[in-house]
Amino acid sequence: MTDIKRLAEMIKECDNIVFFGGAGVSTESGVKDYRSEDGLYSTVKEYGVPPEQILSRSFFRKSPEVFYDFFRKYFIKEVEPNAAHKALAKLEEKGKLRAIITQNIDNLHQRAGSRNVIELHGNVRQFYCDSCGEFEETQEVIKEITDGDVPICKKCGGVIRPRVVMYQERLHPDVPDKAIGYIAEAEMLIIGGTSLAVDPAASFTRYFQGKYLVILNKSETVRDGGADLVIRDNIGEVFEKVMAEIEG
Ligand SMILES: [Zn+2]
Repeated sequence: MTDIKRLAEMIKECDNIVFFGGAGVSTESGVKDYRSEDGLYSTVKEYGVPPEQILSRSFFRKSPEVFYDFFRKYFIKEVEPNAAHKALAKLEEKGKLRAIITQNIDNLHQRAGSRNVIELHGNVRQFYCDSCGEFEETQEVIKEITDGDVPICKKCGGVIRPRVVMYQERLHPDVPDKAIGYIAEAEMLIIGGTSLAVDPAASFTRYFQGKYLVILNKSETVRDGGADLVIRDNIGEVFEKVMAEIEG
């Protein structure tokens, strides 16, 4: 049996699947990864500091205009969900997939139609005031950022921030428990597009005790050894083939 057939059989057998994903899920949508060599190089060249420093709490407070200049380049571009996002939305609709836990902040799972998405690091399409906490309308804020402005709160004049977890910040307190809860109860866990290098997020996958552990990633991960199936291929293509098999 091919790996695609095996994965399709596993999915057919399970009704409580959880997907844990990372950057690789969105690269096929053209989401630029600021951690890649390109991103790192151009950031240091242009701003004199690495991306991790710009995307930190202290930097945001000190230089919001530089933060938003960088944000505009990497996070504002309109991108479309790919075959992996669409397949996961369909599996949820079919009652197979219970939750998506993602390290991505690009909002693409929701755009594809997924409802139960746990975002470990927040979402670049939601904004609130750093001073008074008031939420701001997304399109308005995006427009200001696109125009090269730092968005300002209409209520109190504070600086508006994206609802993402910046460096030097902790995950939202409810998020780890929720993610671990789904993983611990799952029958099948699919880990996709992540090398599981980032903790604490990656450590959540250790709570899995279900039947099938599947890894879909182009490079090796620390969990490959314990997995029931490992496919090292483009995740969008894998999902496209698997869905054809399931719906065949
Ligand atoms: Zn405010």
